[in-house]
Amino acid sequence: MEDEDYLDSIYNMIRGELINAEYAVAATGDNFAEMFAQMDDAYMQARAADVRDISERLVAVLCGTGTDMHALGEPVILMADDLAPSETVQMDKSKILSFVTRHGSSNSHTAILARTMNIPAVIGIDIREEWAGKTAIVDGYTGTVIIDPDETTLEKMSAKMRDDERKQQLLRELRGKETITGSGKKIHLYANIGGVSDVAQVLQNDGEGIGLFRSEFLYLESDTFPTEEEQFKAYKMVAQNMAGKKVVVRTLDIGADKQVDYFNLEKEDNPAMGYRAIRICLDRQEIFRTQLRALLRASAFGNISIMFPMIISVQEVLESKRILEEVKTELREQNIPYKDVEVGIMIETPAAVWISEELAKEVDFFSIGTNDLTQYTLAIDRQNPKLDSIYDPHHPAVLRSIRMVIENGHRGGAWVGICGELGADTSLTETFVEMGIDELSVSPSFILPVREAVRNLR
Ligand code: PEP
Ligand code: MG
Repeated sequence: MEDEDYLDSIYNMIRGELINAEYAVAATGDNFAEMFAQMDDAYMQARAADVRDISERLVAVLCGTGTDMHALGEPVILMADDLAPSETVQMDKSKILSFVTRHGSSNSHTAILARTMNIPAVIGIDIREEWAGKTAIVDGYTGTVIIDPDETTLEKMSAKMRDDERKQQLLRELRGKETITGSGKKIHLYANIGGVSDVAQVLQNDGEGIGLFRSEFLYLESDTFPTEEEQFKAYKMVAQNMAGKKVVVRTLDIGADKQVDYFNLEKEDNPAMGYRAIRICLDRQEIFRTQLRALLRASAFGNISIMFPMIISVQEVLESKRILEEVKTELREQNIPYKDVEVGIMIETPAAVWISEELAKEVDFFSIGTNDLTQYTLAIDRQNPKLDSIYDPHHPAVLRSIRMVIENGHRGGAWVGICGELGADTSLTETFVEMGIDELSVSPSFILPVREAVRNLR
C-alpha cells in the first residue's frame, strides 16, 4: 500500500483520465498483478496475488462494501464512526473483541446485533486517530473506554472480567433447568437470532426455542435477493439444529435502519414510518412468495412458525394469510411437503395494540416488539442518540399497552410473548409474569439471567 509506483499510477489515472478512485485502483491492481506475473523470478511472480488482494480490499473499502476484516490477524477492538446493521452482520465475529462507535443509538439494530453476538459495545465515544494500535479496555457494563491503561487499572479490570466469568459460570448451572416460578407458572424462554450462526449461542445458553429469527439479516448479508433455495437451506438448518423446538421466523422486516441497496428503495423523509416490512411484502409479492415458499418447505424439517412484522390492520393479516394459503396450494400441487405452521404477528404499533382483540381472532400468537412499540408510542425515533435518555420502554403507556395486548390475546385464544429488548429486562420479569405473559424471547446471553429471575419469583 505504500509502494510509490502503485500509488502514482492510481493518482495519475484519477487526475489524467478523470475516472473514479475505485476504477483506478482496480485497473492499477490488474496492471501491476500482470506485471509481477510476467517476471522470471518465482518469488516475484507470487507477489501478483498480493497486489490483487490489496487492490480488491481497497476497492471494497472505497465502495463501502468491505470493512477489511480479512486484514485482521488477532482479535481487535473495532472503532468506527458508525456501523450499519448490514456491515455488522457481515463481520467475522471471531475477530472482534468489542465495538466502539462515535455515532449510533443503543436501540439500533447494530447495538441489538452486538448483544446477540455477545460482544461488548459502547457508543457515543469521541474516537481519536492516535488510539490506533494502542491497548484499550472496553467496559460494556458502564459504557467506558480506557486507552493505554496503567498497571493498576489493568489489574482492576482483569479482576472485574474474572468476576464476570464466575457469574456466568454460576448461571451456566441453570442450563437444563425449567423456566418456572416458585408457584409453578411456566414461561417459554426463547432466543432472538439474526442468522444461522447464532444458533450455537442459543444452544450453549439452553434456549428453549427461537422466538424471533430476524430473517431480514439474510437479505442484509447478501448482494442480491437471496434465492428460495438459499433461504430454504438457512431456515431448514435452524429448524434442524433446534431439533423440534419452536422456531419463529419473522418475515422480511426491511426498511428504516435496515437498508439493502438492491431493493432500490426510494429515499424517504420518515423511513421508520415509511415503506417497510409487511408493506413492502404485500406490495412486491414476488419477494414475499419466495420467502414463504422457502419457509413452508423448511417447515417439514422441524417446528417452524411464521410471524408478520409491523402489522397495523386486520386487513394486512388476512391478506398475508391469503398469500400464505396460495403458496401452500402451489406446494401441494407440486407434491412438496410442508407442515401446517402456526401463524403470528408482531405487535409493535399502537394501532395493533388498540385492535389486538380483533387481531387475536386471526392468529395463533402475538409477539410484542417493544423496541418499535416504544418508538411509535412515545413518538421517539429509536435511532436518534440525542433522545436515548428519554426513550423509556418503562413508560406507563408502553407497560399498559403490553397488559392490554396480553389480555386481548388470551381472550381471542392467542398466546402472547415479548421479543423486544424489554423482554430481557429482569427488573420487569415479575411484572410480565403477573400480567400473564406466556413467552419471553431474548438475546442468547440473556437466557440464563432471565431464567434465574423467573425461578426467583414466588
Ligand atoms: C421490536 O421492534 O421490538 C422488534 C423485536 O423488532 P426489531 O427490533 O427488529 O425492529
Ligand atoms: Mg420492530
